Amino acid sequence: TCGICVEKCPFDAIEIINLPKELQDDPVHRYGENAFSLYGLPAPQEGQVTGILGPNGIGKTTAVRILAGELEPNLGRHDESPGWDEVLEAYRGTELQDYIADVQGGEVTISRKPQYVDQIPNSFDGNTRELLAQTDERGALDYLIERLSIGPVMEQSIDDLSGGELQRVAIAATLARDTDFYFLDEITPYLDMSQRVTAARLIRELAEDEDKSVLVVEHDLAILDLLADTLHVAYGEPGAYGVITSPKSVRNGINEYLSGYLDNENMRIRPNPIEFEEHAPRTGSHGDTLVEYPDLTKSYGEGEFTLEVEGGEIRENEVLGIVGPNGIGKSTFAKLLTGNLQSDEGDTDLNLDISYKPQYVTIDQHMRVDAFLSSITDQFGSSYWNTEIAQPLQLERIMEQNLSDLSGGERQRVAIAACLSDSADLYLLDEPSAHLDVEQRVQATSAIRRYAEQQDATVMVIDHDIYSIDLLADRLMVFDGEPAAHGRAGRPQSMRDGMNEFLANLEVTFRRDERTSRPRINKPDSQLDREQKREGEYYYAP
Ligand code: ADP
Ligand code: ADP
Repeated sequence: TCGICVEKCPFDAIEIINLPKELQDDPVHRYGENAFSLYGLPAPQEGQVTGILGPNGIGKTTAVRILAGELEPNLGRHDESPGWDEVLEAYRGTELQDYIADVQGGEVTISRKPQYVDQIPNSFDGNTRELLAQTDERGALDYLIERLSIGPVMEQSIDDLSGGELQRVAIAATLARDTDFYFLDEITPYLDMSQRVTAARLIRELAEDEDKSVLVVEHDLAILDLLADTLHVAYGEPGAYGVITSPKSVRNGINEYLSGYLDNENMRIRPNPIEFEEHAPRTGSHGDTLVEYPDLTKSYGEGEFTLEVEGGEIRENEVLGIVGPNGIGKSTFAKLLTGNLQSDEGDTDLNLDISYKPQYVTIDQHMRVDAFLSSITDQFGSSYWNTEIAQPLQLERIMEQNLSDLSGGERQRVAIAACLSDSADLYLLDEPSAHLDVEQRVQATSAIRRYAEQQDATVMVIDHDIYSIDLLADRLMVFDGEPAAHGRAGRPQSMRDGMNEFLANLEVTFRRDERTSRPRINKPDSQLDREQKREGEYYYAP
C-alpha cells in the first residue's frame, strides 16, 4: 500500500485501511479515469503570502492552473464538464468562495515564476533588459533590479546568465507585473543565503505593501518560515492523487509535515518523521592528511576577479562543507584542486583524482538512467549499491526513464549518484540540494554522509542550505569578500567557528524550534538575535 489509506483505493491500485476524509469527497479535478486527482485547493488571501509545502508531482501546478482560471475543474467528473456555476456552488461558504467567483468572472490575472529557471533561455531570445522591460507594470522594476543586484547583467544575453542570475531575473520579472495573484514555484535554487533572504523580503513587501495575493512553493524551510503567513501541506501519492490541506500556521504546518502526522486532519502522511536532530557542532575529523595546499591566488583577465586562498589541508575521510556568497570563487577553488585551472601563485599540482558534481546539472543525453549509471560503476545493481545509493536517492522508480525526460529534482539525484559511484580520491558536490524537496534533501544528505563514513571517502560539499551543511560537514571552509571582484577563502575550521564567521558576515542568527529542533532564522533585532550576536553564537546554542 502507499501507506496512507487502506480500505478501498480510488485508483484500484492499492488496498486501503482507512480512507482519509478528504478522499471520501469528490476531488476538485480528475484528469481522466484512473488518472491523477487533486483534492483541495490552496486559498490565496489578499495581503498575504500563502505557502505550499509538499513533494513534487502532487498537484501544485494543477491547483495553480485552476486558481488562474486556465483549467476548469471537473469536480471529479472527467467525462462531463460541470461548469463554473457548479464549482462555485461547491465552494459556497468556504474561504475560496469570493476568489472562485472572481475566476468565474474572468477577473483574476496572474503572474508566475516557473520552477526550472534553466529553461527560460529556450523560450526567450534577447538580453536581460529586453526581458524585464516587458514586465514593468507597476513601476517597481528599478527597485527590484537594485535589490536583486541585477544591474551588472542588464545588457547580457539571457542565454549567458548563470542559474543564480536567471533565478533573480525571473523573480524580478514576476514581481514587477501588476496582477491580482502571484505564484512562485521555488525561489531558492542557485541563490546564496543573502539573496534568498532578500527575495523573501521582496515577496513579503509585495503582499504587505501592495495588498497582493502570493502563493509560494518552497523547500528551504528556513526561508519558507521567513516568507509565508499561512501554509497548506500537500500530500498524497505523486502521479496518483494529491491532497492540499486547509491552511495552517506556518510553524504548525512545517512541524506537522516533518512529524509525518497532520493533527487537524488526523492523518498520517509518512511512516516516519523527518528528524532534525540537534547535534553538538562537529569539531572536525582526525584523519590523516589527504592533501595539503599552499596559499594560492588566481585572477581572471586583468584582475577582474581575484581569489586568495589561505593554505590548509583536507583530511582523509572528512566531509568538508564550503559556504559563501555566489561569485566569490568557490568553483574557482574547486577547479584549482582538480587541476582544470592553474593558479597564479602557489603550486596546485595535487595529483588528486576528483569526482565532481557541478552546480548546474547538464546530463541530458538520450540514454536511460540505468544505462548511464552502470557505465560509471560496476557496483551498479549490487545489493550494497542499491541500499546505499539507489534507495536513499529514490532512483528505482526512474531507472528506465531517459535522462532527457527527467525533472530537475530527478536529474539532481542521478547526478549525485553518478558522482558518488565513481571511484576517486575526493568527491566534490556543488549544491546537491537544488530542486530536491524536503524529504529528498534529508535523504540525499544522509546518503552522502553515510557514504563518506562507510567508504572512508573524502567529500567536499558546497551548499547554501545551511541545515544540509550542518548535517553533512565535519569542518567548514568560509569564503567572503566582494562577489565578482575579489574573494578570500579561509582555512578549514571547526563547524562552530565556521558557522559563526559565515553568519556574522550575513548578520543572521538562528534558533532551534522547541518541538522539532529545526533551525529557524531569528527576527532581526529580536531579543534572541541581539543576545546571540553579543555572545558570538550565530547557529549553535551556546
Ligand atoms: P506538481 O506541480 O505538484 O509537481 P502537477 O500538478 O504538475 O504536480 O501534476 C500532478 C500530476 O498530474 C502529475 O502526475 C502529472 O503527470 C498529472 N498531470 C498533469 N497535467 C495533466 C494532464 N493534462 N493530463 C493528465 N495528467 C496530468
Ligand atoms: P562561485 O563558485 O563562488 O559562485 P566562481 O568561482 O564561479 O564563484 O566565480 C568567481 C568570479 O569569477 C565571478 O565573478 C565569475 O564571473 C568570475 N569568473 C569565473 N570564471 C571565469 C573565467 N573563466 N573568466 C573570467 N571570469 C571568470
